Amino acid sequence: MNLILFGPPGAGKGTQAQFIVDQYRIPQISTGDMLRSAVKAQTPLGVRAKAVMDAGELVSDDIVLGLVGERLSSPDCENGFILDGFPRTIPQAKSLMVILEGLGRTINHVISLDVANEVLVQRLSGRRTCPECGKGFHVVFAPPKLEGLCDACGGKLLQRDDDLRETVLNRLSVYDQQTLPLKNYFIERGVLRHIDGTLPISDIQQQIRALLGVGSGDCP
Ligand code: AMP
Repeated sequence: MNLILFGPPGAGKGTQAQFIVDQYRIPQISTGDMLRSAVKAQTPLGVRAKAVMDAGELVSDDIVLGLVGERLSSPDCENGFILDGFPRTIPQAKSLMVILEGLGRTINHVISLDVANEVLVQRLSGRRTCPECGKGFHVVFAPPKLEGLCDACGGKLLQRDDDLRETVLNRLSVYDQQTLPLKNYFIERGVLRHIDGTLPISDIQQQIRALLGVGSGDCP
């Protein structure tokens, strides 16, 4: 099962991708995570990407396609994969189709998580993460017991550079201009499915399960 999780930053793609990984035993391929790892490791690619990411702009198609192309050929993608945060431009989508054709595969579903921009700004600008254990919080919706500190390990919570309010606004405008046109591209191919991304997480999971069928992570 080859899937794309589609939607603006903050729509909940990462959260739902984790659910699909657990239920269907297929890997998540998040270009944002791959790029953040490269930035953290200070690889030449990461050094080039950092300023672009911090500004909320898109990294060049060449860089992202290099990362994804290599990853899709890995043995753990043989039974399927979930693309999260990719493709983000029409050229990326077209190149993806060429890569998949070369591998004798295709995209089965594109799941679009729809959320209005006002909600996204609130979600993203309040997001905090523990750099020690990776646990996520939100200053309003899921605050830590002690302000600024991780409940799980006591680490000092950080805000992602690109979750600063001004950058969030730019990321959403970049999304509207460069990524939203992909909806028509997927509609034309008959693979786009919509889910209301403001529903409770468990309701969204239920809808995903209704769409994809019972997964191998389900109890018999
Ligand atoms: P994300 O975590 O998916 O919101 O990605 C964080 C940042 O990484 C984005 O704002 C972009 O700068 C960069 N990025 C992630 N995926 C892509 C992509 N498919 N194309 C271009 N840039 C990307």
